[in-house]
Amino acid sequence: MTDQVTGLVCVICGTAYPAEEAGYVCPDHDNEGILDVRYDYDLVASRISKESLRDERDTTMWRYRPLLPMAPDAAVPPLTVGGTPTYDAPRLARTLGIARVWVKDEGRQPTASLKDRASAMAIVKASEAGAEVVTTASTGNAAAALSGLSASIGQKNVIFVPETAPQAKIAQLLAYGSTVALVKGTYGDAFDLCMEAAAEFGWYNRNTGFNPYMTEGKKTAGLEILEQLDWNVPDAIFVSVGDGSIIGGVHKAMKDALALGWIDHSPRIYGIQSAGSDYLVQAFESGEDVLTKAPISADTIADSISADLPRDRIKAMAAVIETDGAYLRVSDEAILAAVPTLARGSGVFAEPAGAAAYAGLVAAVDRGLIGPTDVVVVLSTGSGLKDIASAMKAVTAAGTEPMVVEPTLEALKKAMETNTRY
Ligand SMILES: *Cc1c(COP(=O)(O)O)cnc(C)c1O
Ligand SMILES: [Zn+2]
Repeated sequence: MTDQVTGLVCVICGTAYPAEEAGYVCPDHDNEGILDVRYDYDLVASRISKESLRDERDTTMWRYRPLLPMAPDAAVPPLTVGGTPTYDAPRLARTLGIARVWVKDEGRQPTASLKDRASAMAIVKASEAGAEVVTTASTGNAAAALSGLSASIGQKNVIFVPETAPQAKIAQLLAYGSTVALVKGTYGDAFDLCMEAAAEFGWYNRNTGFNPYMTEGKKTAGLEILEQLDWNVPDAIFVSVGDGSIIGGVHKAMKDALALGWIDHSPRIYGIQSAGSDYLVQAFESGEDVLTKAPISADTIADSISADLPRDRIKAMAAVIETDGAYLRVSDEAILAAVPTLARGSGVFAEPAGAAAYAGLVAAVDRGLIGPTDVVVVLSTGSGLKDIASAMKAVTAAGTEPMVVEPTLEALKKAMETNTRY
C-alpha cells in the first residue's frame, strides 16, 4: 500500500492520474508530460516528523520512506544509499567572504554519485512492477548507479551511454556486469535509442526526465541537507544542472518540507550550467518557454551536465523561479579551477560536474547575488575519481606539479628548496 501517494500530476496540463493507472508520462503530452508525484501530507505527517526522524536509526535515504512513493515494507537494495556527510567549510567561506559554506559530498555514495538515490528508487519501483529487465541511458553516472544497484540484487539491466563517457564510468558498468551499449553519438542519441528499446522490449525505464519516481529519490539529498543543518534553512543551495532532475528533486524536498511545516521558507536554489551547455541559463535570461525552446549543441568538459535538451527542464526551471534563485553559467576553465579549490578548501574531491556547483557559488559572489551574511550549501554531486583525465587537467591548469626525485634525502632536500607549496 502506498496510500500516501494521492496521484501523479502532469507538469504541463495539471491532469492528475491515480498512481496505479499512471504510465511514465501524461498520455496527452508525449515525453514532455513529466509527472509529479503528489502526497497526502496529513497522512505523511502522521507517519514521519522531525521528532520521529530524531529517533530513526536508519541513516540511509530510506529513513524518509513515509515521504517516498513506496510501501512501508517494500524491499530495498542492500547498498547504503544516502546519509552522505554535509561538511562545514570555514576556509572556503572566509575566502569567499560569506558567512558559511556547507559542502554535501555525494561522492560518498556506493557508486560515487548522487544518482544512486534515483537508481535505488528505480530498483524499488521496478521490483514493484515485476520488471525482468531495467534500462537507462546516461552520460555515465545514472548508468553506473543503476548498474551497481542492479548488481546488488542480481537485477538484469541494459545500459546506454555515449562512447565518449569517461573510462571510469564505463569500467564501473562492465565490472558490475551490465549489458552495455556504447552509443556512437551524444547522450541525446543514447537516450532516444534507450527509449525505443525500452518500448520495443518492455523493459522498466529509469530514464531521467521520464520516469517520475527519479525526482523522489533525488529529493532525499535535499531532505538530508535540511535535517543535517538541524532544520536551519540555508540562504541558498547551489546545484549543477544537466537534465535538471537533481535540482527538481532538491526543490521537491523543499516543497515537501514546507507542506509538512518542517521549514517556514525555502532556500533560494541556484542552478549552475557550463557555458558550453547552458540551455536553462539561456531560457532563464531570455524568458523563453522551455517547452518550445529548441535544443542547443552542448559541449563541456563536465560530461555529467552536458545536455542538448534538459529532459527535466520544466521542473528545473520551476525550482529556480519559485525559490527566487537564478541560473548561472560558468566556463569550463572556472569548473576545472573549482576542482582543486574545492578539494583543498574542504577535502571534498569532486568530478567537474560536482565542482561546477562551487564555481557557480564563486560566480554568484562575484555578481553580488550571495553576500557576507549568507549561509550556503554546495551540492557536490559526484566523486573526483570518476574522471581522472579531467582532474589531471585541472591540477595542471592550477600550476600544481609533483616533485620528481631520486630516492635520496639529498635529492629531496634540493627539491624542497624550490617547492613553493611546502
Ligand atoms: C547527473 C549529474 C548532474 C546533473 O544532474 P541532472 O539531474 O542531470 O541535472 C550533476 N553532477 C553529477 C556528478 C551528475 O552525475
Ligand atoms: Zn498533460
